[in-house]
Amino acid sequence: MEQNMLKKYAEMAVKTGINIQPNQTLVIRCPIHGAAFARECAKVAYEAGAKEAVVFYSDEQFSRIRMDKTSKEVLCDIKEYQKIQMLNYVNTDGGAAFLSISSSDPEIYKGLDMDKIDAANKAASKAGEEFRDYTMNSRVQWCVVAIPSEAWAKKVFPDMETEAAVEKLWQTIFKVSRLDGDPAANWKEYTDKQMIRRNRLNSLNLKTVHLTSSNGTDLYVGLAEDCVWGGGKDFTTGGRPHTVAGTEFIANMPTEEIFTAPHKDRVNGIVYGTKPYVYNGNLIEDFVVTFKDGRVVDYDAKVGKELLGQLLDSDEGARSIGEIAFVPASSPINRENVLFYNTLFDENAACHIAFGAAYPDTVKGGSEMNKEQLAAKGANHSVIHEDVMVGSEDMDIVGITESGEEIQIFKNGEWVF
Ligand code: ZN
Ligand code: ZN
Repeated sequence: MEQNMLKKYAEMAVKTGINIQPNQTLVIRCPIHGAAFARECAKVAYEAGAKEAVVFYSDEQFSRIRMDKTSKEVLCDIKEYQKIQMLNYVNTDGGAAFLSISSSDPEIYKGLDMDKIDAANKAASKAGEEFRDYTMNSRVQWCVVAIPSEAWAKKVFPDMETEAAVEKLWQTIFKVSRLDGDPAANWKEYTDKQMIRRNRLNSLNLKTVHLTSSNGTDLYVGLAEDCVWGGGKDFTTGGRPHTVAGTEFIANMPTEEIFTAPHKDRVNGIVYGTKPYVYNGNLIEDFVVTFKDGRVVDYDAKVGKELLGQLLDSDEGARSIGEIAFVPASSPINRENVLFYNTLFDENAACHIAFGAAYPDTVKGGSEMNKEQLAAKGANHSVIHEDVMVGSEDMDIVGITESGEEIQIFKNGEWVF
């Protein structure tokens, strides 16, 4: 992969995605094999006037050794400094911006004690709750982009030699990230279009959306009260001493979705999975789920049924959904026809629902609400948020307003506006 492409990709992430501001700190979280990319990102940040760029490297091979050899008690004992590491940067003047570089081997923990890993992940997730409040509520600029690793590339392109697979994954990531030509202009054109769709959906004041497909999907998704459709661009909400409101950023690159919060008690019908879903490194394929009054009452899967059951039993909120997202069949990621084993890509290949938590800011004023207030609006709460793909080439979506008026949103898998 050429150095100039790496630079172009870094510019896309730091300028267009993060939208780094003069005198701001950029915090980069990166796997060790991505050091060359992290350095490019730092250079771009400084050129754009950043105060400083800092990097936290991770090493998943090391994590695997640790997950294997360390006791559950020790893994779950998260140290104080780990809890405040990111929060410290939120609290620098002007607030920091956070770039995460995703590159995981989807099977990094294969063969290890799943209960232990689950417990360790939950402990880490709990410890990160306060910081996550900043990203989940867009109080700070943040962005996730991906780079290949050898293990990941081999998983996506198993028939290729390692080096060729890595190169192919780079090229595929570049393509679906709109890096051809002038990325900044590509992203502006695309996000402008997405903003029109998002604003249109917000203006319609829909109560329910109805998804149908020739595969048998017939699902009524009631929406949370005062739900807000998001997607395209994001804007910081501020609301804390060191966070500023109104800065544009793009949280995920790529992103193809317009999404909102369903009402946790008002989802009814049946929905079929249309793409394999990777959970804890294992596949769930050809699943079907039946909802009654918001909760999954029946489920099946040709592959990974037991795993799907585990996912749905994660906690009280895991049987309800916290997201409904629209992605057209013409999504560049869908057209690549590749299973990425990475949510950043796979969720952007098709319309999806997410078992588990809703994003607070998909409810009007939700960032300032506590759990009870959000629940009263119908926004679901859970420790998990797992996106599963249900969109198809012939999916129709109709929006239904309070007065029962029906508005076509998707026809044959595509936006009608
Ligand atoms: Zn989504
Ligand atoms: Zn999601």
